[in-house]
Amino acid sequence: MWRIVRPDALAVLNDKMARKSLARYFAVMQNEKPAKFLIAKKLPADFGEDATLEKLWQFHGETTKQFCELEREIDLKKKNLNETPSPEKSYLDLKIAIARRMLKKCHFCVRRCGVNRLEGERGFCKCGNAITVSSIFEHMGEEPELVPSGTIFTMGCTMRCKHCQNWTISQWIENGVPYKPEKLADEVEDLRKGGCRNANLVGGEPTPWLEQWLETFKHVSVNIPVVWNSNTYYSQETAQLLAGFADVYLLDFKYGPGDCAERISEAPNYWRECTQNHLVAKEYGELIIRVLVLPNHLECCTKPILNWIAQNLGRETRVNVMFQYRPEWRAYEIPELRRRLIRDEMDRAIKLAKEAGLVNFIT
Ligand code: SF4
Repeated sequence: MWRIVRPDALAVLNDKMARKSLARYFAVMQNEKPAKFLIAKKLPADFGEDATLEKLWQFHGETTKQFCELEREIDLKKKNLNETPSPEKSYLDLKIAIARRMLKKCHFCVRRCGVNRLEGERGFCKCGNAITVSSIFEHMGEEPELVPSGTIFTMGCTMRCKHCQNWTISQWIENGVPYKPEKLADEVEDLRKGGCRNANLVGGEPTPWLEQWLETFKHVSVNIPVVWNSNTYYSQETAQLLAGFADVYLLDFKYGPGDCAERISEAPNYWRECTQNHLVAKEYGELIIRVLVLPNHLECCTKPILNWIAQNLGRETRVNVMFQYRPEWRAYEIPELRRRLIRDEMDRAIKLAKEAGLVNFIT
């Protein structure tokens, strides 16, 4: 089924630790279980179009519990999704209705700009109403379990990392191409039919486009796991909408509890929000965490992050300790970021992961 060009992408199919921490993902990828968005489409949610946002959230909370139960029954083969009728209004429709309201006073990310994106206003991320795409391709450079990954890069970002490697996308240097959800759904289906293991939603940052992503998957009918590839700087409301939609949370975790996130990425309250979002992700899906090791940030960032993961998410959490940092964009403004990692720092990061007790990390 897959055109594999990386030997580790085949070997990972027999990796016990990877399979254990991403068990449902492997099953969806191999078409043994349905992706969460397909289940969400079959769960009835008869909400009123005129209901207040507060009421919709209340209903969403109750329906999320029903979703978890339905997913469990399907996974245990007590119910067959193909034999379940499609409701007039579904849990996925409810998510879209809420996300549509959120666009009017945008609070998809921690910044909570409050702009009305349906009326043409723009916030920090500069994202409008039409999802805007930089590129779509089969990515061969992701973690082995994800390759080949059907990756869709969208424009704009909710953080402003001075060392951003995708700055032409995150900062809208490129124009990008606006897509209608139906058309983007065709692209997702083509990626799967072409042999991709998943749909990898990334940017920039996928968070500002959550409403459009939910609408897109309303039109997708193939079984494909959704990988939410994010900087993790999203609001608690976004975290709730992702429950029952994202199969795998591929989350960045790169700054410790000090002021590094604010100084380097203009991201206040990063540690508090990022840790909270990791906890919610673990509750509703499966996790791969990317820890980008930054020069001179081993003690203030790498160490507390790895310890927090082991203590709060478990020692078997899938973690990618990344050594690929290189000075890009405005990294020259931060003196310690004007160089690549040295060998000692890579060795130290591996030692820190082992000392934290992590047993399922890759580099
Ligand atoms: S998604 Fe964009 S507009 Fe919305 S709150 Fe975040 S930065 Fe502001």
